[in-house]
Amino acid sequence: MQMNRRNWLRQIGLVTAGLGVAQFNAFALPPTNHLTFTPTDDIPVRLSSNENPYGPSPLARTAMNNSINNSNRYTWNTTGDLISAIAQKHNVTDDNILIGAGSTEIIDLVIHSFASQKGNFITANPSYTSWAKTAEKSGLKKISVPVTKDKQHDLKAMLAAIDMDTKLIYVCNPNNPTGTLCENAELISFIKEATKSTTVMVDEAYLDYTNQPSVSNLVTDNENLIVVKTFSKIYGLAGARIGYAIAHKNTINHFGDSMQTWANGSVGVVSRAGAIASLTDTDFVSQCYSKNEAARKYTVEQLAQLNIACIPSHTNFIYFSLTNYKKDFFNLLKSNNIQGTYIYEEEGKWTRITVGTLDEMQQFITAIK
Ligand code: PLP
Repeated sequence: MQMNRRNWLRQIGLVTAGLGVAQFNAFALPPTNHLTFTPTDDIPVRLSSNENPYGPSPLARTAMNNSINNSNRYTWNTTGDLISAIAQKHNVTDDNILIGAGSTEIIDLVIHSFASQKGNFITANPSYTSWAKTAEKSGLKKISVPVTKDKQHDLKAMLAAIDMDTKLIYVCNPNNPTGTLCENAELISFIKEATKSTTVMVDEAYLDYTNQPSVSNLVTDNENLIVVKTFSKIYGLAGARIGYAIAHKNTINHFGDSMQTWANGSVGVVSRAGAIASLTDTDFVSQCYSKNEAARKYTVEQLAQLNIACIPSHTNFIYFSLTNYKKDFFNLLKSNNIQGTYIYEEEGKWTRITVGTLDEMQQFITAIK
């Protein structure tokens, strides 16, 4: 089921807050340094890490400032408050949530819990695999399943790749770096089938940039599904390091009790205050969504004029082929103080650029023209 805009707003909490779309558009975002940010020699235009160029949100900044003085205390209550706020957002209960220092910590907990059992894990190629080398070093064997010609997850091939030693299948939806989104019904039936024999971890780091619902509603009846989410992207808190898992309560208990010495304890009080406030700053999230769409549309149109083929993106980054591009792309980025990424697939020379502010994307296009 694809979501319409109203459902998307509900997903990010706008409708439950009793506010309508028209009201959000009427709100003005308080001025922040970020919105007038000018790149300098020391601060390049950073289009490499899929960060939100507008965040943290104004409410998060205030909450973080106000909570600094609590940093000398173990403030247990903000842990519970954050868990409850997240659970409410996703319509699950508090015991379905585990907090980590970024979704990276959650992914690490999952890997380490499986590593002692050995076996293999399955992932698409290319996909977000920063964690895969840790998994391999821990003794798990990587099985890569190529994406389709359209750069989509090949869910059928991933199912077919499961064997008796498979401990984990990782699905990044939308996928980093390709920006593609799994068809929702197909993903749900994949999860139902694959979790009969193994654990599926769905990484929804970028799902807030789409209209698709989370698969987190499936966790109540399924102990083998782990949904991983983060405050690092549309919520603009990458440096604050907050992510979480949504899973069955027994699964959360396992990771919280056996894998974290202090369950939910690795995120500091200032970050937690920022995260709680950012969940209520629905106007900011809505603006980030719209600004990202506008800057992405501009960039894709400009790339098309340069005869550069892009994969339709559902995220805050764009995957494109440099096959028809005759200049030295990476040198042009460097000499213009722009941080991009690298070639992910030699065949087709596919690379990725983060969608920054419109101004940053104009600088990017000017640099490569
Ligand atoms: N998952 C995906 C798909 C990512 O792209 C990233 C970071 O870019 C992460 C997880 C890690 O995010 P976090 O900042 O929550 O550790």
